[in-house]
Amino acid sequence: MNDTTNERLMDALRGLVGASHVLQGVGLDAYEVDWRKRYRGRALAVVRPGSTSEVAAVVRTCAAAGTALVPQGGNTGLVGGSVPDDTGHQVLLSLTRMNRIREIDADNLALVAEAGCVLHTVQQAADERGLLFPLSLAAEGSCTIGGNLAANAGGTQVLRYGNARELCLGLEVVMPQGEVWHGLTGLRKNNTGYDLRDLFIGSEGTLGVITAATLKLFPKPAAVVTALASCRSVDAAVGLLNLARARLGAGLTGFELMERFALSLVEKHFPQLPRPLPQAPWTVLLELAGTEAEAVERERLAALLEAALEQELIDDAVVAESIAQSHALWHLRESIPLAQSEEGLNIKHDIALPVSAIPRFVPHMARQLQQATPGARIVCFGHLGDGNLHYNLQAPEGVAAADFLAAHETAINALVYDEVQRLGGSISAEHGIGRLKREELAQRGAPVALAMMKAIKAALDPAGLMNPGRVI
Ligand code: FAD
Repeated sequence: MNDTTNERLMDALRGLVGASHVLQGVGLDAYEVDWRKRYRGRALAVVRPGSTSEVAAVVRTCAAAGTALVPQGGNTGLVGGSVPDDTGHQVLLSLTRMNRIREIDADNLALVAEAGCVLHTVQQAADERGLLFPLSLAAEGSCTIGGNLAANAGGTQVLRYGNARELCLGLEVVMPQGEVWHGLTGLRKNNTGYDLRDLFIGSEGTLGVITAATLKLFPKPAAVVTALASCRSVDAAVGLLNLARARLGAGLTGFELMERFALSLVEKHFPQLPRPLPQAPWTVLLELAGTEAEAVERERLAALLEAALEQELIDDAVVAESIAQSHALWHLRESIPLAQSEEGLNIKHDIALPVSAIPRFVPHMARQLQQATPGARIVCFGHLGDGNLHYNLQAPEGVAAADFLAAHETAINALVYDEVQRLGGSISAEHGIGRLKREELAQRGAPVALAMMKAIKAALDPAGLMNPGRVI
């Protein structure tokens, strides 16, 4: 595209959303650099529409000019899907001005939020009506509902409430040519042909722009109590999970696993955070949400932990005595990704495995990795209750992270993903594919599934202008 054509496009975009919402030039790092600082792009412009009709007009105008679009919410994605490439030819479409809660229907336990609503704002809006929107993750103060759905985010409550896909009843989407699909239904039963909603959830901005969503709400539990427990092995942690499932049933809302080194990074980079238990090989965070008074639910959790001590599944445990203590325990867990990025660039694996395979996977993988890259530091933590591990590698002490990644990332990925596939797992549990795992998916995905994905992409976005180069 030459300069005159570019200027004509910019003029048209300014006319659609207002000159102050078309940003160009320097100082756009917040939009052009991803959260992990692995991908640095350059946008032709950052465009910030304020309504669905403005999004549709921007998409139509860019489609007519043959200009690719990269949708972006909070830019907290971890797979490089939300920032433009470095050609300077892609328009970055920021949804953050579309941040209204349109409606709360308490009788239908549903809420309609615009795509740019920050997740925490949605949680608060539900809370103010005495209801619960259970999607919860460490980035909830910045990530948006549009991004959560586009990435099919998981987080800490999947065990009880499911991931973002299961929390969505309907969508409003601007299609790649600019038509609007008005699918904002609040129905829980609707068998009228193919499920178009599910097509867009997890599509990472490659099939259209989500502009609003109907989300499921739940009655708020009467009490939520949290505990921390120390285990000697992953086997023991899985034993504790089984006991907790049996005793707490649907009340068990969170079951997080943290390896010693992961927590030692938190201690190193955030020494101000309290450490309620002495260091142990593995630490588990459990959460119980119940219908009884807090004291009763705390007793239930304590009784479970006593039984676990008797069965030698755990060595030590502490139950939070207040909401503040509960938050402090979660804060430890949620500080791990931040502590890791303070420690330096790392090789991330967001993997899913059958829970039953995890006790074999962890020690086997550690042995293989120590042979292949002696001294590499494994940061293992995650949502054990969902069979989802964040299995990351930090360079050996004293080795420059960038050199380590350049030399070993491909071989390490192959080792980890081969084993994950052998055990029937997935190379992406909750973060998506983006740019980071596109080649892995191309190599490892089932050919029939990949062919279907390409056919869907070609049918909905024949010009390939919606977030090109991501996912497939
Ligand atoms: P962005 O990063 O802006 O975008 C993510 C993808 O969605 C991109 O491909 C983008 O193009 C697309 N997209 C964004 N908005 C739209 C839209 N409106 N329409 C179409 N496409 C769109 N994830 C988990 O699942 N579980 C966790 O526990 C978790 N913890 C995290 C902790 C931290 C500290 C951080 C930084 C991230 C974490 N994540 C986690 C990653 C997670 O995917 C994101 O935080 C979140 O879901 C992305 O939302 P976002 O608004 O930032 O999207």
